[in-house]
Amino acid sequence: MRGAAICLGVGAIWQIGLVLLVLLGACKGTGSEKTTPTKPIETDPLSPTALMRDVERLCGDAFAGRGSYQAGSKRASDFVFAEFQRLGYEVLRQPVRGRHAENIIAIKRSGEEAVVVSAHHDHLGVRNGELYRGADDNASGLAVLLGIARSRATHKYKHTVLFISFGAEEDGLVGSGVYIHDPIWPLTKTRAVINFDMVGRNFFEAGADQAEAAAIVGLEFDEALAAVAERAAAEVGLHLILVPARLLELFTLHDRTDDWWFRRQGIGAIHFSTGLHKDYHQVTDTPNKIRPNQLARVAHTAAALLDSLANSRHKSHASRSK
Ligand SMILES: [Zn+2]
Repeated sequence: MRGAAICLGVGAIWQIGLVLLVLLGACKGTGSEKTTPTKPIETDPLSPTALMRDVERLCGDAFAGRGSYQAGSKRASDFVFAEFQRLGYEVLRQPVRGRHAENIIAIKRSGEEAVVVSAHHDHLGVRNGELYRGADDNASGLAVLLGIARSRATHKYKHTVLFISFGAEEDGLVGSGVYIHDPIWPLTKTRAVINFDMVGRNFFEAGADQAEAAAIVGLEFDEALAAVAERAAAEVGLHLILVPARLLELFTLHDRTDDWWFRRQGIGAIHFSTGLHKDYHQVTDTPNKIRPNQLARVAHTAAALLDSLANSRHKSHASRSK
């Protein structure tokens, strides 16, 4: 997630989070992680272990915190490019202004309409000699994106699917903005976007601290899709907190993730997040704080949503601004 344009203190962010939770009636946290979900989470490549392996890899010294315009983010986008290619997808690089920044786009061609699945790969990199590894922001989201791309590599869908790893998100949603102004698939034929940004922690750790919950933004107008998400979530013991996109607008949190550009263009936009925490944009956002089961719960739920969106005739009514 990118920082606020007007500097919003972390304390204020917590308060907003808490207000959100109260509004949503979601403050029934347990704080403790149960080890057995209601149904075993599927093995490879959406297993907690497989997803966590990518988080650790992306937070390793070799990627140097994936700073938006630093060499580390280019190494991360090269890694994503190679993974998509290895899986057999048609892969494109889309240059983003500034050094080392690019979007990586994998295409799974089928029908005329496309569903986008996305996450940003950049973070803060090295600043003043300190390494910001960005485990939750957003190695977690990228790991989920890669896991879904692996698990769906041989699926047959009715509609086309684009997996997009955005660059320069932390500089103000720059990579996704470049994509929106120069899309490789017509926006009028883009059915929906499913975006991941910070999906590896307990839900709002400084507030409710729910171990098996995650927010899903944008399904307030689509009962059928919300039912698909809730069914999939229940299979892996995930409590989904449905957050209307308009509610984020009230707290000026609506334009801080890449899905915002799509919603603004009138495209149905769905966003997964486990929320803000005290390690947000700190050097302490490290892999040891990530909950592998949360990654797997989100990945399983999102993959079911993708299957539904990419196979149905049903036009998504996920939140849009037009
Ligand atoms: Zn961020």
